[in-house]
Amino acid sequence: MALERTFSIIKPDATRRNLTGAVNAMIEAAGLRIVAQKRVHMTRAQAETFYGVHKERPFFGELVDFMISEPVVVQVLEGEGAIAKYRDVMGATNPANAADGTIRKAHALSVGENTVHGSDAPETAAIEIAQFFAGNEIVG
Ligand code: GDP
Repeated sequence: MALERTFSIIKPDATRRNLTGAVNAMIEAAGLRIVAQKRVHMTRAQAETFYGVHKERPFFGELVDFMISEPVVVQVLEGEGAIAKYRDVMGATNPANAADGTIRKAHALSVGENTVHGSDAPETAAIEIAQFFAGNEIVG
């Protein structure tokens, strides 16, 4: 399996509850390396761009309002098969369906306030990383 990078967000429900370190511990325990990280308060325009693929969905407004409600921590994670591995570590979108040992099972509050984002494919990972990080901010 190839060394990959994926884009992660620790969402407002987690930063609000001071869970950045707890989430990072689960990421690192899974063998993923945090090669870039910063805390930002997204603008509405940034959140609308980031979740543009969902703009026709009924929850889009709620999702954008949530993502700009508090600071988030944006990250680049690196590892063998990092994209699929992080999706496994995150767990199902709805925490009610998330497996034991996953971040969302441990910490998510609801299908909306679900603690973390992770890219779903190499193409989206590249686009998402480039929205928040310059190349020289990623140190593997
Ligand atoms: P993910 O890839 O597991 O994050 O899930 P999706 O790409 O399907 O959805 C993106 C994000 O939209 C989710 O992580 C949730 O934060 C949010 N979301 C998805 N479904 C719902 C919903 O039914 N209601 C609300 N409020 N938010 C949702």
